[in-house]
Amino acid sequence: MNSLKTITTLFSCLFAATSFAQMKDLSALPAYDCSLKKVITIIGQPTILAAPDHAVGLDAILADYCGTFGNNCIQKKASALTAGDYSKNILMIGVCSDIRNWNKLTTAVTPIKNGFIINGKVFNHKRDGFVFVDTNRIIVSGNSLQAVKDAQLALTGGHDILVVQNGNITFFGNRKDKRSFDWFNLQNLKQTNYNKKNAALFSAIYVSKTFKDSINYPKLYGELQAYVQQFLRIYKLKMPTKKVSWFLHSNMQEYGTMSGMFGLTCPGNSSAGFSIRGAIHTNGFNTGLVKHEYSHFLFDNSIPQDNNPAFFVEGCVEYVTNLNDSNLFKKRIETAKHYKDTLNYSDLIVYNQNFYGQYSAANYAVCGVFVKYIIDRFGVEAFKTYCLTKDKKDGAKNIFTLEFDALVNGYKNWLSTQ
Ligand SMILES: [Zn+2]
Repeated sequence: MNSLKTITTLFSCLFAATSFAQMKDLSALPAYDCSLKKVITIIGQPTILAAPDHAVGLDAILADYCGTFGNNCIQKKASALTAGDYSKNILMIGVCSDIRNWNKLTTAVTPIKNGFIINGKVFNHKRDGFVFVDTNRIIVSGNSLQAVKDAQLALTGGHDILVVQNGNITFFGNRKDKRSFDWFNLQNLKQTNYNKKNAALFSAIYVSKTFKDSINYPKLYGELQAYVQQFLRIYKLKMPTKKVSWFLHSNMQEYGTMSGMFGLTCPGNSSAGFSIRGAIHTNGFNTGLVKHEYSHFLFDNSIPQDNNPAFFVEGCVEYVTNLNDSNLFKKRIETAKHYKDTLNYSDLIVYNQNFYGQYSAANYAVCGVFVKYIIDRFGVEAFKTYCLTKDKKDGAKNIFTLEFDALVNGYKNWLSTQ
């Protein structure tokens, strides 16, 4: 009993010590511009999309940006930029050391050998990257291709500066004067606003101090463990070696801020869960939601989202949800039949468009049904290969020996037998 008492005392001391960290009021953080004024103004006008001359590995990102800019996209190699171009709108993307003419870009970021300086702080690790936004500039850069990609993923547009380090967002903020920023290190919120728990399936669980925590953790772990085994078995996947962390938030402000999906803090947004940067974020708690987000972590670990459309990213999860809930599956079959001839399968699968948005509820209902058709007819390995394939039209021929249209017609015929 005595030793138990000592341990209890020790624990409460530790707890008291961690509670000393002052909770940060999120409204005191650098403001996020929900209107995205600077970015919208830039991309609403002709904008030069530039990359260093010998940049490699950026083609897909550049194509993506150019697609977003539409008719306003003027793609140029850095060496082709004229003196006059530097007074125009420029989005520059590339590895720091490859970018010449920093002075002409007039940023508040100072390049150095092997890195860059912001606010007097040196960032010289390989995975350090940043996004800089000004009235006629967007610079997405970093110390390696991976860092540039991390920065690109972190670009949400409502802050003037955002830094990524080792895959995590650290500093973000807004311009104070010509050379400096008011900024805040997001990682500090972990210490001040969250209680850390250790758990088998996670590297750690961070529970918001404002969340009324009445979760039955042993029950949750038991259910989640069984679900994870089922999911891995179905898709013949291995448990990822690097574990995921889980942030449990109690409101949209916390959820959007801590996940770095700052746009979610803006009015009119609703979202319950997200799996990003090796972390699961949920706004509130329910077991189904944790299972759903954990599935993304498991599947994406082997089959990255790079070539996988949202229809399958969500479909592979909803397929398993349907297996575990026959009533839900029945309802979804009805929904799938209802939308059978009106859905644009080519947009959803070949072009990865229009999954989220207006018809997202219907799409969530249908995607798992469609995945069931593929898995039942062609097997799980073929489905995984198809998810990994860049060109979904060619892929249908190579993997299923069917033209894409024949694949869709096959689905419709199969659906009528369900
Ligand atoms: Zn999802």
